[in-house]
Amino acid sequence: MIPSAPQNDQSAAVRAPGWQHELRHAFSRPAELLAHLELDPEHPDLALSRRRSFALRVPRGFVARMRKGDPHDPLLRQIWPAADEDIETPGYVVDAVGDLARVRGAGLIHKYHGRVLLVATGACAVHCRYCFRRHFPYNEQLAARDHWAEALAEIAVDTSVDEVILSGGDPLSLSDDKLGELIDALDAIPHLRRLRVHTRQPIVLPERIDERLLAWLDRTRLQTVFVLHANHPNELDDSVMTALEPLRRRGITLLNQAVLLRQINDDVETLVALSERLFGCGVLPYYLHLLDRVQGAAHFDLPEADAQALMRVLSSRLPGYLVPRLVREIAGAPSKTWIDWDTRG
Ligand SMILES: *Cc1c(COP(=O)(O)O)cnc(C)c1O
Ligand code: SF4
Repeated sequence: MIPSAPQNDQSAAVRAPGWQHELRHAFSRPAELLAHLELDPEHPDLALSRRRSFALRVPRGFVARMRKGDPHDPLLRQIWPAADEDIETPGYVVDAVGDLARVRGAGLIHKYHGRVLLVATGACAVHCRYCFRRHFPYNEQLAARDHWAEALAEIAVDTSVDEVILSGGDPLSLSDDKLGELIDALDAIPHLRRLRVHTRQPIVLPERIDERLLAWLDRTRLQTVFVLHANHPNELDDSVMTALEPLRRRGITLLNQAVLLRQINDDVETLVALSERLFGCGVLPYYLHLLDRVQGAAHFDLPEADAQALMRVLSSRLPGYLVPRLVREIAGAPSKTWIDWDTRG
């Protein structure tokens, strides 16, 4: 006779989406990650941060795109909790973009005309060390249903808003049941025209683009834009290209925002390859962000003049539609601030 308990376990495993399984098995222990990558924990460039405020977290599929035995791998450096994070640098603060003061109970941030950002969840599939969200006291409460009710009520009364941006954290950390419910409610607000999803999950966890997700995308009347987040061409392998295909087939606009990061993508060859590989996946480069001056991330920053010089060479190498806009987020500004780099006059 077959025992009943394992049987139940099995059917539960079948019911739970594969991406949730992947997420549960993400690397969270530095020693385990180093062993997997055949790296020496004594290597001076792999010294660990002594702070424990923002844990290591990285899905296995993303780790599979890292080079084994290379402590300077550009994907590894984005997620490794390095000792450099403990350095206090003047001017690098906890709330670099002034969002902390703006997240209201409902989880809405309304900084720019016509579009409102909904902090749907604080959770991410990967923890990027340069991210300002590392210091945010976001929690799952923001995703709670009653909070959405409050956000939805605020959006419903503001007819100047025609676009809702799902952000976080990573909004795709939420279950498709929760997301579907939210999208249905947004659909019912007549002045909304566009839905935007700011997510890194199709890059770090391509399994996330599954039938359940496509089901609510198929249902919405809203014109849909995905703004992805990849910083290096090595992030974009065949698994990502395959995952994006059903989005492309549905006519969803795919854009990418990257962050300019020292010793990760601050050279022309890498940025050219990133733009070209993105386009190969059907994604257009949108923004290249200068680093938010976040405490613990100063070692990723580079001088603005260096960024401008990079842009000048980049624009001479690529068709205009593959050149991202260089921007910085300045607290209180009415939009992202475009950084001028063209001095050819
Ligand atoms: C970045 C951001 C947006 C989106 O800006 P776009 O220039 O439209 O991409 C919207 N709201 C907030 C609060 C933001 O930080
Ligand atoms: S919000 Fe985006 S950049 Fe920040 S940790 Fe999450 S996935 Fe990374």
